[in-house]
Amino acid sequence: MSTIDTVRGPVALDALGQTLVHEHVVFIDSEFARFYPELAWGGERSAVVDKVVGRLQEVVDRGIGTILDCTALLHGRDMDFLKEVNDRVDLNIIASTGIYTFDHLPHHVASPSRFTNSADDILTRMFLRDLTVGIADSGIRAQSIKVAVDKQGFTPNIERVFRAAGRASAETGAPITVHTHPADHQAARALELLAGEGADVGTVVIGHSGDTTDVDYLRSIIAAGAVVGSDRFGLYLLPETASEQERIDILATLAAEGHADRVVLSHDAVLYSDWSEPGSLDGVEALKTWVPTRISDVVIPALVERGVRQTDIDAMLVGAPASLFTNIAA
Ligand SMILES: [Zn+2]
Repeated sequence: MSTIDTVRGPVALDALGQTLVHEHVVFIDSEFARFYPELAWGGERSAVVDKVVGRLQEVVDRGIGTILDCTALLHGRDMDFLKEVNDRVDLNIIASTGIYTFDHLPHHVASPSRFTNSADDILTRMFLRDLTVGIADSGIRAQSIKVAVDKQGFTPNIERVFRAAGRASAETGAPITVHTHPADHQAARALELLAGEGADVGTVVIGHSGDTTDVDYLRSIIAAGAVVGSDRFGLYLLPETASEQERIDILATLAAEGHADRVVLSHDAVLYSDWSEPGSLDGVEALKTWVPTRISDVVIPALVERGVRQTDIDAMLVGAPASLFTNIAA
């Protein structure tokens, strides 16, 4: 039986169950948290742990078995936090490596002494360390790579990041989740860069694709062999993004065309983040839908209502997510 690593240890690929492929348990910058803990946590860290446990329990109560945590370097990972939370919630949490940047690279990565090509790139070495040895001293191996391209497009730094991710994926079989700005149709170039280093495009999720209403663009991602991430359910604040109803209609269309096995679902919810003043987003009306139970509570019933078959819903929530890990599973 092939298994993958999770925060709690190995889990059989066919036991992942309903899987949300793009969530974030915590964003916490380690230097910020070390020097300004009261600002980073907004009080007691243990209170944040309690709050996040409560939110994840709601996800578990809906029947979700697994989340892929797409938190990478520069979002700020905290493996101790993940372990503490997971000790109290019966959920598989899969950790990620990668780097979240739209162009800027920190000095310890940017220096020309740190790379000459993708094979010796320090980014490749960092990703491989997380994937093969484990993240820091946690003993938890990352099982997925997160990279990003946004409105700035494929700058030289971003091309370098993608090549490093492609190389690390080729060596380990790790799937890759790409944050994209879908209005700019970046999937083809992203896949070209990743495949150019040997990555299997069949395990690449073109993330945030659910934000667009351009179904032909989504069909092009599937035709290229990659996976469409309709992974921001509940977050409808960003400019020029599809409404919930439009996203649901598109899922029904893709399912009717036989593509449910190439579509994955998630919320991109962030359960705690040091990016904003603690508590400042609580009660914001437009964010009330942005909860990691939105798919279970609203989207799935709406798909059923639309006549989408249970086998197609299972494909999007169970089969397609598990298929991302077929190359890395041991
Ligand atoms: Zn994200």
